[in-house]
Amino acid sequence: MGGDLPFSQRPVIILGAGIIGCATARQLLLNGFRVILVAEYLPGDQNIFYASAWAGAAWHAAGGISPENQYFQAVTHRHLLMMAQEEPESGICIVDSREYLEQAPTPNSSLWGKTVVSKFRDLSPDEYPPNFSCGWAYDSLVTDPTRHMPYLGKKITSLGGHFIRKRVESLQELYTMFPESSIFINASGLGSKTLVDVQDDKCFPERGQNVFYRTESCQRMYFRNGKEYTYVIPRPLSKGVVLGGSKQRDNVSPEVDMDIARDEIARAHRLAPDIVPETPKDDDLGYIIGIRPSREGGFRLESEQLGDRLLLSAYGFGGGGYAFSYGVADALTKIVEKAERDNVIAQAGP
Ligand SMILES: Cc1cc2nc3c(=O)[nH]c(=O)nc-3n(C[C@H](O)[C@H](O)[C@H](O)COP(=O)(O)OP(=O)(O)OC[C@H]3O[C@@H](n4cnc5c(N)ncnc54)[C@H](O)[C@@H]3O)c2cc1C
Repeated sequence: MGGDLPFSQRPVIILGAGIIGCATARQLLLNGFRVILVAEYLPGDQNIFYASAWAGAAWHAAGGISPENQYFQAVTHRHLLMMAQEEPESGICIVDSREYLEQAPTPNSSLWGKTVVSKFRDLSPDEYPPNFSCGWAYDSLVTDPTRHMPYLGKKITSLGGHFIRKRVESLQELYTMFPESSIFINASGLGSKTLVDVQDDKCFPERGQNVFYRTESCQRMYFRNGKEYTYVIPRPLSKGVVLGGSKQRDNVSPEVDMDIARDEIARAHRLAPDIVPETPKDDDLGYIIGIRPSREGGFRLESEQLGDRLLLSAYGFGGGGYAFSYGVADALTKIVEKAERDNVIAQAGP
């Protein structure tokens, strides 16, 4: 393996071209590595099992996560903000956000996000509905996946990356396809449940169904933080808002469930009556269905040395793949850089 090709010229092979595989490819290419992505679904595709096409996608500080995972979110925020400011074609926008809490924040709540976002402030009681105990306002970031994935696809190609559309049944199939490569990244999302040499039983499909409501009032995000999982995520570039959310474990139905849709509209109306009317016109409504690649215990981010090969695993991001994406890409890139460094030092010898 590797043959005579110097380490730095061997392409890094990424299985999966969702937000995790593509964000990683972009970062590796920017840092000067060669990259090939192999995937069944590519940027621009719209299959329900391609989760990255359907996300909200809001950057929202997650509560109850480890400091390391908070850092991944913080790095993601830094990258998204740069793209929002410098590359409008990325489909990322800065929006005013309102987060209402049913109970005072606990030490491991999403309050850590105030170290990352701009213009954070506590809302005064007359600024949030009376059934909440407190609220925050801040600038957050929303990513429109219908624009961001095609943008990333073009960016990767322009930086010299290559996409190969192919479904594989195992990682071994990839090793055989690329005998000259020594670094492989498994960013296959739910694929890791069925790849014969991965078969991660902790992975499971988790259906999400959202409502898209066409409106000019699409500049402010609302988040209900508590027993109800409700959000209104604006898409300023697509002139609408995404109303959610819903989670259905092990359900992979592509059919719109109108009970869920009606419930989401009602919850969104209660949360943001200034944006969402009680009964929106049918013509203004659309429906979004995607299968999240979830995993019991959270996502897997690990590296394993398998003989001369380095296998990096990055899958199982459930409902947070966009919020973690560029931070995870940064972490994976650092592992690849360390492998290169170790290789140079080992080859140079004493
Ligand atoms: C309705 C909804 C709303 C969401 N909202 C948000 C949000 O607001 N914020 C947020 O952060 N996240 C959100 N998410 C979650 C987010 O979409 C996912 O976490 C993220 O897209 C996962 O990205 P991924 O790259 O891991 O997987 P995917 O996008 O599913 O990509 C997997 C890739 O692997 C390839 N693959 C898999 N198996 C194989 C195989 N055997 N051979 C070849 N290729 C293979 C696929 O073809 C695909 O290219 C939402 C998801 C849904 C459904």
